[in-house]
Amino acid sequence: MHKNPARLHTLELSFGKAHVFYTEASEERCTAALLLDVDPVGLVRGKRGSHEGGTLDQYVNDRPYVLSSFLSVAMGRAFGTAMTGRSKGRQELADSAIPLTATLAVVACRAGDGLIRELFEPLGYSVKCERHPLDEKFPEWGEGPYYSVTLEGTVQLSNLLNHLYVLVPVLDAEKHYWIGKDEVEKLLRKGEGWLATHPHKEAIVKRYLPRQRQLAREALAQLSDEDNPDPDAVAENNSEQETKIEEPIRLWQQRMGAVVAVLRSTGAKRVLDLGCGEGKLLRELLEEKSFTEIVGMDVSYRSLEIASQRLKLERMPGKLREKLKLIHGSLMYRDKRLAGYDAATVVEVIEHLDAPRLAAFERVLFEAAHPKTVIVTTPNAEYNVKFETLPAGKFRHKDHRFEWTRKEFQDWAGRVSARFGYTVRFLPVGEEDAQAGAPTQMGVFSL
Ligand code: SAH
Repeated sequence: MHKNPARLHTLELSFGKAHVFYTEASEERCTAALLLDVDPVGLVRGKRGSHEGGTLDQYVNDRPYVLSSFLSVAMGRAFGTAMTGRSKGRQELADSAIPLTATLAVVACRAGDGLIRELFEPLGYSVKCERHPLDEKFPEWGEGPYYSVTLEGTVQLSNLLNHLYVLVPVLDAEKHYWIGKDEVEKLLRKGEGWLATHPHKEAIVKRYLPRQRQLAREALAQLSDEDNPDPDAVAENNSEQETKIEEPIRLWQQRMGAVVAVLRSTGAKRVLDLGCGEGKLLRELLEEKSFTEIVGMDVSYRSLEIASQRLKLERMPGKLREKLKLIHGSLMYRDKRLAGYDAATVVEVIEHLDAPRLAAFERVLFEAAHPKTVIVTTPNAEYNVKFETLPAGKFRHKDHRFEWTRKEFQDWAGRVSARFGYTVRFLPVGEEDAQAGAPTQMGVFSL
């Protein structure tokens, strides 16, 4: 973080002061605190912000007490270098995913803690939210929109800082003091490498640039260039039927985004995509510099041919071409070629396997191939009632052998992880329904 931990660092900012100090700094642990001292009177005098009318609200508001876009401004000044991922003396450490915890003293989030989770969980964090009463002395007033939030994840420091820089103002979309044209550029820069694939990128951009529809549209257009989804690719797809049913929410894109975000957060470099099909995920993986070796495997030779065409393998520039291997194989049989990878993804594949043969697949993947991380996604059967075009009791795809409820998937995943020495956590993918849950369920297994 480019700061001497023994000293107090104070910065003068337009809205007040920011102080950086270290509450602990040992070989094992280090805690850096960023304290914002917001001066609401100074704000009004300087005529910053969007004060409607000359009400008391200008002077009496929550701005000095919650984390808002002021935090991002302060972070940009205090931790600017760390946010770029550069380190003078310890580049290797800056490049590594390390266990980090961020404690956000108070955020205002009128949309509720669901939003806090939706924003941070797809990026690989575990999220704890503690909601505060409006006033401790008057419990009958109920809960306020304020939360203390703790995020934990194994990520690069620069990633954590950039996530906070963009997402804290997004939580608190109500009040923004600094919207300008260059915000789009800032958003894209700080969102580089993760925002384009975030399942809620639209909501993030819109809330980051509130009441600025034109700017939000520009930002989204640029993000989808980065994303580069090929609309034709969807139409031809083998799993056309499934795609159609899930289409209204563009679930497959959200799924890819979530998988890539979790993969990235694990720091994986060499990655297997098992049952890669026609290569939707491979395309996203190829765009990420952090993945140095990518192997797609599928039992269907035809799917691999299509993947190869879609990815334009023949015409791919040498370096990129070297990164990617497509191999023909089955998850039912032990395969030496699968050993020694950092991570494996199995996206919407297990439901294509015959239930009695799942045990074989489990041993092939978790025992023989034994990657450090395994990401499995599968439909959440409880959500099927929400698909208008899907008749009751039917599966989303005619080749599905089963579709599991959340409990069924979690029971299976729990048994598998216990048996092969993994731990597992679960993430919802797609818009969550209060009763039915999210349309796709994801299990992230770690050694
Ligand atoms: N992961 C891709 C494709 C999902 S469709 C995506 O999300 O778009 C399921 C894929 O699993 C199909 O391509 C199918 O050929 C493959 N598959 C089914 N049984 C398999 C097996 N035993 N071994 C490897 N792949 C298998």
